[in-house]
Amino acid sequence: MDEFGVIAKYFVPLAGEGAFGLTDDVALLPQRPGHDLLVTTDAITEGVDFFGFDPSSTIARKALRVNLSDLAAKGAVPAYYLLNLSLPHTVTPDWLAGFAEGLASDQDQYSLSLLGGDTGATDGPLSIAVTAFGFVPTGKMVKRGGARVGDDVYVTGSIGESGGGLAIFRRETHTLPDADRDSLIARYRTPEPPVTFASGLRDVAHASVDVSDGLVADLGHIASASGVRIVVKGEAVPLSAPLRALWGDNTLLRAVTAGDDYQIAFTGPPGLSGLFTRIGHVEAGEGVSLTLNGSDIAVPKTGYRHF
Ligand code: ADP
Ligand code: MG
Repeated sequence: MDEFGVIAKYFVPLAGEGAFGLTDDVALLPQRPGHDLLVTTDAITEGVDFFGFDPSSTIARKALRVNLSDLAAKGAVPAYYLLNLSLPHTVTPDWLAGFAEGLASDQDQYSLSLLGGDTGATDGPLSIAVTAFGFVPTGKMVKRGGARVGDDVYVTGSIGESGGGLAIFRRETHTLPDADRDSLIARYRTPEPPVTFASGLRDVAHASVDVSDGLVADLGHIASASGVRIVVKGEAVPLSAPLRALWGDNTLLRAVTAGDDYQIAFTGPPGLSGLFTRIGHVEAGEGVSLTLNGSDIAVPKTGYRHF
């Protein structure tokens, strides 16, 4: 099957409003009155962000969801995406069918559609770049730079499980029951960004970031953009039972530097409650510190960096 056959069979069924059925040179990006249009792009690469043996449906979901995570952290709802594929020559129809199925189910779950893209072949690793567009009511985007002295710091979900799944794939020894092992691997393969929390977030948050490089590193982005210091109480960081079973006494330090969480860390007025956990506070100064039962503890590295 050639490039156009692949597009017609697997991607045209995913095209929505503005895409002209993937038969034109461009797409028309529909606007939404009373809203700002936000755009973000992230690529994932075989051997770096996923494994070649991962199911193609979860690879597709991860490619999409790492972008939906950025939109959610800004208080935006997803609407459209562009898809740029570098496919190894070895890709099969079964692989493509699973990939398209993963995209289709996430399009349903998160209410977005495909606008267009590009499809190329490569002798190198599989690489998938998604550009996602979302809407937020005019002026309501939650920035990294809005944290204020006196805010509390909150995080959605739990931290470090994706890193635990990756550690298992890297053959770290463990004695986890199969169900715990599988739940960590699932978090690595298929992030669960809190997309439906976006509207609640923009009502309460002063500053926000998605946790992709590691909790401490990403809170560092809020601290520097806002000109404040963030203090994280280690004992408050949400860590799952399977992750504690995997990493024992090292769980906290490994979890806050692991990355790939795709949860939302944000600051806002003290005393908020909801589907998130209070993990610290904002004070005058700079940088991020981590305490455990009142004492500072050193954080080994500052999060994941590609280079
Ligand atoms: P061009 O001639 O401009 O390079 P293409 O032949 O690459 O256009 O693409 C033809 C149509 O198919 C365009 O509408 C493009 O957006 C769409 N398309 C190509 N690859 C993909 C893809 N991976 N996902 C979605 N749409 C795609
Ligand atoms: Mg093209």
